[in-house]
Amino acid sequence: MRSEYKLIFERSHEGRRAYDLPACDVPSAILEIPDGMRAKEPLKLPELGEVDLVRHYTNLSRRNFGVDNGFYPLGSCTMKYNPKINEELAPMFDDVHPLLDAEMCQGCLALMRDMEGMLCEICGMDAFTLQPAAGAHGELTGLMHIRAYHEHRGDLERKVMIVPDAAHGTNPASAAMAGFKVKEIKSAPDGGVDLDALREAVGPDTAGLMLTNPSTLGLFERNIKEIAKIVHEAGGLLYYDGANLNAIMGIVRPGDMGFDVMHINLHKTFSTPHGGGGPGSGPVGVKKHLIPFMPVPRIAENDDGELFLDYDKPETIGKIKSFYGNFGVIVKAYCYIRSLGAKGLKEASENAVLNANYIMNQLRGVYDIPHDRICMHECVVTPTEDMMANGVHTSDVAKALIDRGYHPPTIYFPLIVHEAMMIEPTESESVETLDEFVEAMKGIADQVKSDPAAIHAAPVTTPVGRPDEVTAARKPIVKYEW
Ligand SMILES: *Cc1c(COP(=O)(O)O)cnc(C)c1O
Repeated sequence: MRSEYKLIFERSHEGRRAYDLPACDVPSAILEIPDGMRAKEPLKLPELGEVDLVRHYTNLSRRNFGVDNGFYPLGSCTMKYNPKINEELAPMFDDVHPLLDAEMCQGCLALMRDMEGMLCEICGMDAFTLQPAAGAHGELTGLMHIRAYHEHRGDLERKVMIVPDAAHGTNPASAAMAGFKVKEIKSAPDGGVDLDALREAVGPDTAGLMLTNPSTLGLFERNIKEIAKIVHEAGGLLYYDGANLNAIMGIVRPGDMGFDVMHINLHKTFSTPHGGGGPGSGPVGVKKHLIPFMPVPRIAENDDGELFLDYDKPETIGKIKSFYGNFGVIVKAYCYIRSLGAKGLKEASENAVLNANYIMNQLRGVYDIPHDRICMHECVVTPTEDMMANGVHTSDVAKALIDRGYHPPTIYFPLIVHEAMMIEPTESESVETLDEFVEAMKGIADQVKSDPAAIHAAPVTTPVGRPDEVTAARKPIVKYEW
């Protein structure tokens, strides 16, 4: 921590207070806390006056980088702008209690049912559940459908989930959590799935294949129909990681490509805030043959046209989330879809892809492009050999971008590209912002030649410079010690 930044603890001064409470005018409660459970000493809390407290939190908020204060091209995370109208709408539902009888919240149920329908339309699936709380949670939920499907048919040997090495890192983890053995297959030189390796990998033990498309290389899988055919003919099911749906909305649909089950991330494609651990939403869509296994409750309609929560699904995988998912997130995403409409969603994807290709082409010659073909919503570039000969690597470029006012791209991911920088501009950004970012990237490449030491010193504008990342990860100190 740089010395000019003082923490709230360091500003503490005994006896200072930021509040002034009236005297208590009710009898104090006598708490029967067993002796062994009582704190032996009073808590050590910082003591400050109101102005110091206000400055502390205000300054903290200014150090927080978000989409609302700068360009945030964090690849694979789709940090698009979240329109404020979405934020206005969600609190209108704050007073609805999740335990209300269905007859008291028909509007909420209708919203969720309509949302499920719109997602089916966008993705080409037959049914959606809105319950999973994140993308990875959606993967687990989706894979549980695949497991239930095989088990229900008595096909008990199908225990292997095939995952290409260009898949998102959550894919193999979710497959293992769902009880599958993970078989990784390598990518072909063009960045797509290696079809020969896939033919080799499938067999009577194949439960399915998880495909991230567009892949973490930002590339659309060219052989998708052939892949679907190979896996289906081997008796496996196809899982589509649709967290990168922002590249394809209104253009192609996973359901039409032959996929049986998929998830999407509302907190990426459908413009709800994310970062800092949530809340998110990872709805899961399935084709007809997987509907019986969907999590309960399902929203259903009775003979009088009233909506209700249906728990009577004997083959369900069960309940995967308290209540009905992160309802507030669903409301925001619903508003976003309704405001854009079918045409607007398609334009969003077109512009997301255009922006990524624009950046990739502007950086050509200054940075290397390992898979140099038209990309989707994100592109992967690396420092050139010359930059690295000067001792400047991807992490240095990322740090130098911070001083220039940008959130760095995703770095060292995907793992299959050495020194990767994965840049996802999203459709929200104007060409002027893209140009400024490209100038910053070029400026860094220039500075590598003139003053590499300055790049190694970056960032100089943040309270913390370059923490020892290995020690920080292995031995984190998560509380202030004084
Ligand atoms: C973000 C992402 C995930 C995981 O989503 P979370 O909500 O972070 O769990 C999975 N796959 C891909 C391709 C992603 O980009």
